[in-house]
Amino acid sequence: MSLFVHRHEKADGRELLLYGRAPHQGIAGPELEAAPAGRSHLRWHPLRQEWVAYAGARQARTFLPQAAECPLCVSQAGRIGEIPFSDFEIAVFENRFPAFSADAEMPDAIRGLTLAQAGGRCEVIVYSPDHRSSLAGLSDERLELLIEVWGARVKVLRDMGFVAVLPFENRGEEIGVTLHHPHGQIYAFSFLPAQLARAAKAQAEAPLIAQLIETLDPALILRAGQAALSFVPPFAMYPYEVWLAPRRRVASPDELTDTERSDLAQALGDAMRRLDALFDAPMPYILTVQTAPQGFEDTFHMTIEIHPFRRDTNKLKYLAGVEQGAGVFLVDVLPEEAARRLRAASA
Ligand SMILES: [Zn+2]
Repeated sequence: MSLFVHRHEKADGRELLLYGRAPHQGIAGPELEAAPAGRSHLRWHPLRQEWVAYAGARQARTFLPQAAECPLCVSQAGRIGEIPFSDFEIAVFENRFPAFSADAEMPDAIRGLTLAQAGGRCEVIVYSPDHRSSLAGLSDERLELLIEVWGARVKVLRDMGFVAVLPFENRGEEIGVTLHHPHGQIYAFSFLPAQLARAAKAQAEAPLIAQLIETLDPALILRAGQAALSFVPPFAMYPYEVWLAPRRRVASPDELTDTERSDLAQALGDAMRRLDALFDAPMPYILTVQTAPQGFEDTFHMTIEIHPFRRDTNKLKYLAGVEQGAGVFLVDVLPEEAARRLRAASA
């Protein structure tokens, strides 16, 4: 299927891309005023051996607007949003309050600290013009388009020279999401974040995802497609954690075949509907699309990982002392039991 993209430069210079199965021919309406420039930077954490990003200007960002003021809805008379068109399929634009940017400056020296510029690019990806939709409510065709757009962005951002690209979604007020309109984000980094490095190096030493799929207990599988599957990982760190993967090793979504993308889309919608059905309430979660960092393209096997935050009706999973202090996750639902309940939840 064809993927069309309509490129638009917003009034403040940010890039807006409208992706779809049909060419977009809309005329842009009024636009938001430029936001005050933020100044982000990185400081090295010597004990964790990780960068910490400081992004002060982000405090000013939009917080839980009423639906009528949603900046991700299409622009209507009297209301100006991020997408100054009357319709779109999937929209991607540069974040108005980016934590990382390509022109980030080197911060002033601070005695005793190792600093770096917060180099990267932050994009917002809006899945649908429908304010009330969600991944669980999107059609398989729209989910396929979303996966294809994730792939297109990963490729563009890698070609721009960024070292690692992470599409992700935070969902739910419970975990601090400020906008309800169905959307995710894509962060491209000019450095290799520690956790991504650890996973990529582990996969470079052994084909861990292929081995996992091959040896997976069938009771952990939620949906087995010909080319892709969804399952509860036997080493899940969160109750009801779900992973999706193509069976063939693919470094990033832009390398998926039509069949693999279609299978993944069906597994994604299916997993989301099961998670929402589990406690009969929208599941708050963090979803990440794990793609190969630069230099790991020949060994990395992409996955989509969903970390849900509800462990029971009205009970949220918090990262507490042992998780924060020691990095040891305590999970009170066995993966085998989580899979049994998710399989029983109606999709
Ligand atoms: Zn909206």
